[in-house]
Amino acid sequence: MQLKIFIDMDGVITDFLGGAASFFGYDNGNIHDHWPNGEWGTAKHIKKFFGVSERGFWEALRGKGFWRSLLLMPDAKEFLKFIKPYKPVILTSPALESADGKMLWIKDNLPSYWKDRRVILTTKKELVAGEGRILIDDHDENIKKWENAGGIGILYPRKWNKNWFIDNSLEVVKNEFIFYINKYHKGDA
Ligand SMILES: [Mg+2]
Repeated sequence: MQLKIFIDMDGVITDFLGGAASFFGYDNGNIHDHWPNGEWGTAKHIKKFFGVSERGFWEALRGKGFWRSLLLMPDAKEFLKFIKPYKPVILTSPALESADGKMLWIKDNLPSYWKDRRVILTTKKELVAGEGRILIDDHDENIKKWENAGGIGILYPRKWNKNWFIDNSLEVVKNEFIFYINKYHKGDA
């Protein structure tokens, strides 16, 4: 069976948290170091780190400027290089009016994905799941839903998910990915 690979954007490729920190003027050093271990951002965290309500947070980021300006996660270049031969599709969930900005970001930074139209925007990633479909994502919930829908989920260890304690995130992702590739190629999956 031909495997199909899907990769998440925010928190895997793009540094959404760092971008939000710059946007809201967080000046207490690197926000990644201060973020609570294993906790996904909720209203409580948004208030604490950015001083706004959850609604205010998403409203402020509305529009394409913020989304187009996001920087890469420190290990994203190497991750993208590793995953490139597998022709992955970017599978990203558009927050309030972020779709244009995300598409422009891809056009600016990953032109081959743009050219091949290897991009899917949906707030329900699990609708794309199925047998032989691998999703690499940093959100525990997305992975759970993907696996429940019959796909293979690989959680990218980050400070804000349950694998926060893993230091060599990229190596762990690579190894897990290769495991599935080998398994499928042997035909015993
Ligand atoms: Mg993400």
